[in-house]
Amino acid sequence: MQVREKLRILADAAKYDASCASSGGPKRDSLGTGGIGSTDKGMGICHAYTPDGRCVSLLKILLTNQCLYDCAYCINRRSSNVPRAKFTVEEVVQLTLDFYKRNYIEGLFLSSGIVKSHDETMEEMTRVARSLRDGHKFGGYIHLKLIAGASPELIAAAGAYADRVSVNVELPREDTLAQLAPEKRSDIIRGSMARVRLGIDEASEKNAPAFAPAGQSTQMIVGADGADDRDILAASAQLYSGYRLRRVYYSAFSPIPDSTARLPLHPAPLMREHRLYQADWMMRFYGFEAREIVTGADGLLDLAIDPKLAWALAHRDAFPVDVNTADRELLLRVPGLGVKSIDQIIMARRYRTLGLDDVARLTRGVEKCRPFLIARDWRPLADDENLRAKLAPEPAQMDLFV
Ligand code: SF4
Repeated sequence: MQVREKLRILADAAKYDASCASSGGPKRDSLGTGGIGSTDKGMGICHAYTPDGRCVSLLKILLTNQCLYDCAYCINRRSSNVPRAKFTVEEVVQLTLDFYKRNYIEGLFLSSGIVKSHDETMEEMTRVARSLRDGHKFGGYIHLKLIAGASPELIAAAGAYADRVSVNVELPREDTLAQLAPEKRSDIIRGSMARVRLGIDEASEKNAPAFAPAGQSTQMIVGADGADDRDILAASAQLYSGYRLRRVYYSAFSPIPDSTARLPLHPAPLMREHRLYQADWMMRFYGFEAREIVTGADGLLDLAIDPKLAWALAHRDAFPVDVNTADRELLLRVPGLGVKSIDQIIMARRYRTLGLDDVARLTRGVEKCRPFLIARDWRPLADDENLRAKLAPEPAQMDLFV
């Protein structure tokens, strides 16, 4: 099979993995440019963020879509009737170098189905990274997906060559993982994450060689099993604290051809994925605990409004807070105020008592935060019954890449 045909199959097969962070990246379409793929079509190129915050475009491919496993939610599962292909190590290296030199990409995201064994697959993937780094002095970004259960030596090699490594946790609940992916084991997935954490911790010691400097991440499929958003956020919180993950990526389940009746017939709403990303942000940057974010009795995030606003509306007794005196922790809970705005507010209020105009200059979300704040010249209505209706955005078609 020609490399071009392999690329078509294996770039398409890789599009289901969300863990290289296309979310938030600009749309890109190479139709008519001679490039490969687009973020819109999920083919070939995705975007990721480097440790210093730069957005980089990556060649996103599988080494192979052949797989020994039969995970029900995966298009590449053993029983799936899709065309199969496999790159050689040399082909992946050459493609990466060619696209890099043509300025199409700034790095590589490499994942794979499992062929022969965990270790043989992982060994081929690490050979790609080693060849790029040692053989070709490749300085671009490399994200390697780890094969859960691969030997500690191979995980160590992956961490030594890659900027970021990731192991997919797949589903938030262990019982449904056992049902839908019977060959996968949660303890083995977590064991591999623990190995990575150990490598990262050891590398932080003085004079130690670098190990996955962009950290580790994982992906969770949303809506394939009965897990509600409370379950999902609890699982994420545990992953962040237990394995010090840099990111959990959420991927809305999308039905695949010839799948089992145990999977839903309909896709999970993309808005649910979006709300989970916002809730995840609240845990990482605003100091919320996972268990307090979901306010509804059904265990699901409100799709109509963002979860920080939903929390504030469910806790009206915690507001309004005085922008001139409130602690940073309290300000972080105000809808419409982000970390940067709050830092600027805290700096500005050292020199003067802030009015609403001052707040408006320091945040783009003044309309949203106004009902929850007291300022020098502003006090909101105590019991505005229509607050939710006033603050909820007009229903709109969701953009795929928000
Ligand atoms: S191991 Fe990975 S590639 Fe193989 S079927 Fe499961 S999810 Fe798909």
